[in-house]
Amino acid sequence: MKTKLSSEYKTAIAENLVDIKKRMAEANTMGQEVTLLCATKTVPAEVINYATQELGITDIGENRVQELLSKYDELEKENVNIHFIGSLQTNKVKYIIDKVCMIHSVDSLKLAAEIDRQAKKHNKVMDVLVEINIGEEENKGGIAPDELEGFLEELTAFDNIRVRGLMTIAPFWCEKSDYQKYFTKTYRFFLDILQQKVDNVYSPILSMGMSDSFETAIECGSTLIRLGTVVFGRREYK
Ligand SMILES: *Cc1c(COP(=O)(O)O)cnc(C)c1O
Repeated sequence: MKTKLSSEYKTAIAENLVDIKKRMAEANTMGQEVTLLCATKTVPAEVINYATQELGITDIGENRVQELLSKYDELEKENVNIHFIGSLQTNKVKYIIDKVCMIHSVDSLKLAAEIDRQAKKHNKVMDVLVEINIGEEENKGGIAPDELEGFLEELTAFDNIRVRGLMTIAPFWCEKSDYQKYFTKTYRFFLDILQQKVDNVYSPILSMGMSDSFETAIECGSTLIRLGTVVFGRREYK
């Protein structure tokens, strides 16, 4: 029987990562530290474990609660940070609160209050990013740019949440110049608002950039890129 993890596939992933790291370095004209997070939706645990145990990947991100739970027991967890990067329903917070190191998609007080409540139960402080809807798209998660400052202010009421920075998903089908516009705008919010409000002890995180935009995102100041397709190949949804 052919395993999911053929030697060809292993080689392809390893080569992809070499190429990505080179491209990351070339794009990094500001010289900030950038974390490469692998977005692992639809990727089997066996493949994720190969990336974390043999290729030095330290950060992975899942975006569906059900999928994270189904893989969770099989994942190698030593020296691996598991993030939650997808939109999160309030009633599912309880399933992931003890399994992830950071939630990238906080965009309502109701969600924040539930994360705070569940974190308290587990005696932990949950690191979160506030998602900003930088393209001001309808039907998309994230806080509208002009509501960001007020929202951050309201989050200070929660003792078991630590705001570490911002996350954004740029509108799809952008041209490079559009990405530049959205990412630069996000970076300005990041500087203006967060550097005053986020606890100085923790270096602020700006989670922006995916497979088709990560170089532009790094040029514009991203400190964490979330990559799926360029690492693992095109996803096959069943
Ligand atoms: C799937 C996903 C990514 C990675 O997307 P690619 O285009 O495959 O790199 C990044 N962020 C989020 C929130 C995702 O759901």
